[in-house]
Amino acid sequence: MTITFTTEPAVPLPAEKRAALLEAPAFGEVFTDHMISIDWDRDRGWHDARLHPYGPLVLDPSAQVFHYGQEVFEGMKAYRRPDGTVVTFRPYANAARLNRSCARMAMPELPEETFVEALELLVTTDRDWVPDRPGHSLYLRPFMIATQHTIGFYGPSAAYRFMVIASPAASYFKAGAKPLTVWLSQDYTRAAPGGTGEAKCGGNYAGTLVAQAQAREKGCDQVVWLDSAERRWVDEMGTSNLFFVYGERLVTPELSGTLLAGVTRDSVLALAADLGYQAEEGRISMEQWRADAESGVLTEVFSCGTSSMVTPVGFVRSVDGDWTIGGGVPGPVTSRLREELSGIQAGSRPDPFGWVH
Ligand code: PMP
Repeated sequence: MTITFTTEPAVPLPAEKRAALLEAPAFGEVFTDHMISIDWDRDRGWHDARLHPYGPLVLDPSAQVFHYGQEVFEGMKAYRRPDGTVVTFRPYANAARLNRSCARMAMPELPEETFVEALELLVTTDRDWVPDRPGHSLYLRPFMIATQHTIGFYGPSAAYRFMVIASPAASYFKAGAKPLTVWLSQDYTRAAPGGTGEAKCGGNYAGTLVAQAQAREKGCDQVVWLDSAERRWVDEMGTSNLFFVYGERLVTPELSGTLLAGVTRDSVLALAADLGYQAEEGRISMEQWRADAESGVLTEVFSCGTSSMVTPVGFVRSVDGDWTIGGGVPGPVTSRLREELSGIQAGSRPDPFGWVH
């Protein structure tokens, strides 16, 4: 299938207004001049691929997405390098994950080449929106919704729209890499075996909001999710994966089907092995987390994801008590991995894996 994009130019925001917005980007609230839309229906497959001005959608109130929640999304970033070039990081990994989410949610898959071409077209057109400050980026949000007009719940929607929008983002580390305090959620679970935990679908996030509010009440930054069957194995965090550092050995929860296969997680596994650490997937229980932190064999814990990159986790709170990891200060392995990974993205380190696009 070949998809040809048509382009409809937007009236760009005046350069000085854009520059003011990029000074301190309000991530997720300000969007670039353009967006991408591609439609799908049973007769035509993917069609009407277009780059057009960013703006509101007109959808029938009966559109299936509003009722039965067929929606999937992705999250990734474009970075401006000191030499002015703009790059993305592993876009084919996001394309593949979008399609795994689509398969789980009974939605049509989008050719990976079309996904990447859509990103390239949007980023190239709106390249002036990619911030040039170190650590800042242009966040890209590809997503797909069910658009068939019917509230009959007879099966998958017969029509969909794939879109991409983009929002400039400030560095996550404005205040330096301050270790996170996390809340171990024992009242709520995020995902069950056989459920949708490994799909990046909107409903997975809606279901976590009450737990996030509980975490904030407890003075915590993020929720840590346990498995829903035994309620003891660590799965992941709200929007990032977790790594446990035992000296030179790194362990991250295995992809059991209930956690998201983070692109950053996969990159850290490969990068850590390349740097000479022993990096493996395994199972960590909350009891072991606490015992190992208290005995000191667990030296660091960090979270990793597109938005927060690699961030130390210093303190854990739970209904059974609190504990501290590695004295609650950023550890050397966490700092090294963050520097190496951001160096690959910024072009100050070689990219032996061919991740930069
Ligand atoms: N887990 C969840 C639940 C997430 O939403 C994210 C963010 N996409 C991640 C992990 C990290 O994934 P990535 O490294 O691909 O951003």
